[in-house]
Amino acid sequence: MKEAGLGIGGRYEPIECRSRHKVAIVVPYRDRKDHLTVFLHYLHPFLQRQQLNYVIIIVEQSAGTPFNRGMLMNIGFNEAQLQETFECFIFHDVDFLPEDDSNPYTCPEDGRPRQMSFSIDYWDNYKPTPRSHFGGVTALSTADFRRINGYSNSFWGWGGEDDQLFQRVKFNNLTVVRSFDEQPLLVHKARYKTQSHQKAQPNPDRKQVLAEGNVRFQIDGLFDLKYQRLNLQFKPLYTHLLVNIQPGPIKS
Ligand code: UDP
Ligand code: MN
Repeated sequence: MKEAGLGIGGRYEPIECRSRHKVAIVVPYRDRKDHLTVFLHYLHPFLQRQQLNYVIIIVEQSAGTPFNRGMLMNIGFNEAQLQETFECFIFHDVDFLPEDDSNPYTCPEDGRPRQMSFSIDYWDNYKPTPRSHFGGVTALSTADFRRINGYSNSFWGWGGEDDQLFQRVKFNNLTVVRSFDEQPLLVHKARYKTQSHQKAQPNPDRKQVLAEGNVRFQIDGLFDLKYQRLNLQFKPLYTHLLVNIQPGPIKS
């Protein structure tokens, strides 16, 4: 990777040109070591072939509390901004692998967040997911992510945070686009292969939290984000954040 020009902390900048896009890839993470190894070794060369200026940030949640994917994304966004300026963010599950080099990991335009993983191996053999599906791999401009106040921090355990993000995007009149929307014959280039794992038990409260979310857009998210940074390390293949987060009382 050093020979390939990869900088410390999993950063890259093409040598032969200046990239128009500076992208932070944020990956929520806990206990998926095998997936992470494959992800990093696969994604770095993939992103470099696209001549992007990027960094991979792994945000790991410490043990003891139910996993909170949305909150880890918010933390990744926050911490990346503390380091430097990025035009956009790609929020990326560790088990998703883009199959085709021409699946663009460039920045989406302002006002047009991109749902990237809508054609997935396990989802009816790559049949496009419903338009409201906003999980897996999702790209937003930095301005848009700020505008929508990030993800909700209120989803502990599996499910709901991606639906809530979709609601926020709609609420703010942003338009969700999908790669190759205008070139349907090329849509197979947006395919994702996934690494298999045991299905998590859905959080039984997720629907209720989702229903209440509409009144909390403004206050639940980047605005009230609280966490304890246990460690920040610039590793050869990624920037590693380890954080402690705790459920607080739900505000209304
Ligand atoms: N994740 C993780 N450890 C966990 C749960 C989730 O690292 O214990 C991260 C990981 O990036 C994963 C993403 O959160 O890809 C979404 O969780 P999961 O894969 O369980 O969701 P599903 O595939 O069932 O939608
Ligand atoms: Mn998964």
